Amino acid sequence: MKDSNHKHCLFCQRDEQQVPLVQVDFKGATYWICPQHIPVLIHDPSKLEGFLPGAKELQAG
Ligand SMILES: [Zn+2]
Repeated sequence: MKDSNHKHCLFCQRDEQQVPLVQVDFKGATYWICPQHIPVLIHDPSKLEGFLPGAKELQAG
């Protein structure tokens, strides 16, 4: 069950009760990501396509 007001990692869906979450603002929307998946966002953001709309555009050249 998904509650859009409920914070959870956009990648693994764990919530703030389970992991610390870091806020990610992107294209006017707010997302949350856990420390374990921050490296994915940094190094391989194309993996977030499907989780984070537009993530493909983040791919480094
Ligand atoms: Zn995560």
